[in-house]
Amino acid sequence: MSQGRPDPPRLRLDPASYETLRQQILRRDGWRCQSCGGMSNLEIHHKGFRSHSGHDSEENLITLCTQCHAGVHHNLNHISFLNSV
Ligand SMILES: [Zn+2]
Ligand SMILES: [Zn+2]
Repeated sequence: MSQGRPDPPRLRLDPASYETLRQQILRRDGWRCQSCGGMSNLEIHHKGFRSHSGHDSEENLITLCTQCHAGVHHNLNHISFLNSV
């Protein structure tokens, strides 16, 4: 029974705010990929997907290196660790 209600538009942070948030996440995670522990090519991944509320909040963000990040997006269905942290 769909009421045809569209998802609310994602709140987007301006680049400066996002960069600040990004630094916060990196520091929280100890500047390490939370999957492999690597410390280079770090990126921020949004844990919250469309089914949940994918806000740009700290709890929804995790530090991953480029490689693991790509892997996560490639294997989203197989990932369980992201949902358990
Ligand atoms: Zn990694
Ligand atoms: Zn991602």
